[in-house]
Amino acid sequence: MSKKCVLVSGGAGFIGSHVTVELYNAGYDVVIADNMSNCDETCYNGVSQILGVRLPLVKMDFCDRAAVDKLFADYHIDAVIHFAAFKAVGESVSEPAKYYENNLGSFLNVIEASRAQGGCNIVFSSSATVYGETDKLPVTEESPRMPATSPYGNTKQICEDILRDSVKAYAGIKGIALRYFNPIGAHPSALIGELPRGVPNNLVPFITQTAIGKRECLSIFGNDYPTPDGTCQRDYIDIVDLAKAHVCAVARMLDGKMAEGYEIFNVGTGRPVSVLELVNAFEKVNKLKLNYKFAPRRAGDVTAIWADPKKANEVLGWKAERSIEETLAAAWAWEKRIAGK
Ligand code: UDP
Repeated sequence: MSKKCVLVSGGAGFIGSHVTVELYNAGYDVVIADNMSNCDETCYNGVSQILGVRLPLVKMDFCDRAAVDKLFADYHIDAVIHFAAFKAVGESVSEPAKYYENNLGSFLNVIEASRAQGGCNIVFSSSATVYGETDKLPVTEESPRMPATSPYGNTKQICEDILRDSVKAYAGIKGIALRYFNPIGAHPSALIGELPRGVPNNLVPFITQTAIGKRECLSIFGNDYPTPDGTCQRDYIDIVDLAKAHVCAVARMLDGKMAEGYEIFNVGTGRPVSVLELVNAFEKVNKLKLNYKFAPRRAGDVTAIWADPKKANEVLGWKAERSIEETLAAAWAWEKRIAGK
């Protein structure tokens, strides 16, 4: 039987590159497409080194309808995993139009091209941000979505709706939305990982850059939250574990196992970890001291959120496996490698 082909939009980035590795290792053909707007070829080269093969990398913008149509004409695409999107929450507040245009426009083009070829299996990379602030924890897929607090978060909600409605309306389109909690870490080879441009917004890249000496001090945003140690709690999910969830989602679709045309899964561990616990675990496993201080709360942060991953465990047959220590060791190995240390 010929291999099924999966298109990974945004496949040269942090999550897309890890997903590409797991898909290829699971026996799929992979086409990577990326406009390289938020990454260079570091991860693509890392993927090539890990796999020992240079997969097709199509440099194109998913907002360009003609380019998307050409991509679908050039390859026989059985499934698409759509990552290509802007992701800076703060920037989305100051430049909402840029976020709506890019994140919605690119996804609509994927839907249209899928429709034009008579259907496709589409995995959308969504986020736990759709749940907002909730005191009913952990969150299940049935937990209500709260009004988004940023244009970025709103694009995640709207794209979920676009997918749900398209599945209903257009024959042959099936969809899975994966709601990621906090993806962190790097591939155990240290050949691919997160490469934020400028000052990192996210906790773990800020920690590793502080540890390597690129940043002077980590600010822990708020230690007066109603949590056991006063710092926020999140569900940090290892990037390789997260990548494997995509392979399960694609297999479920291609094997015709979906119970409904549109399904949603939480991709998390079910384990809350506070900012302080994460910092302590990083210091312990990597045997170093991190320069950090407590700072005021960051606007827009929720107190605590973690997943109920039961549906993904039982229905998708996926489970987070790596410990937070393994993940933080991998993140540190990656930071050291890119710093050349
Ligand atoms: N955080 C922090 N200092 C930083 C970056 C993040 O204390 O420099 C905290 C942030 O307040 C939140 C947690 O780390 O409680 C995770 O933040 P991140 O931006 O990584 O992900 P989010 O949960 O906001 O999507």
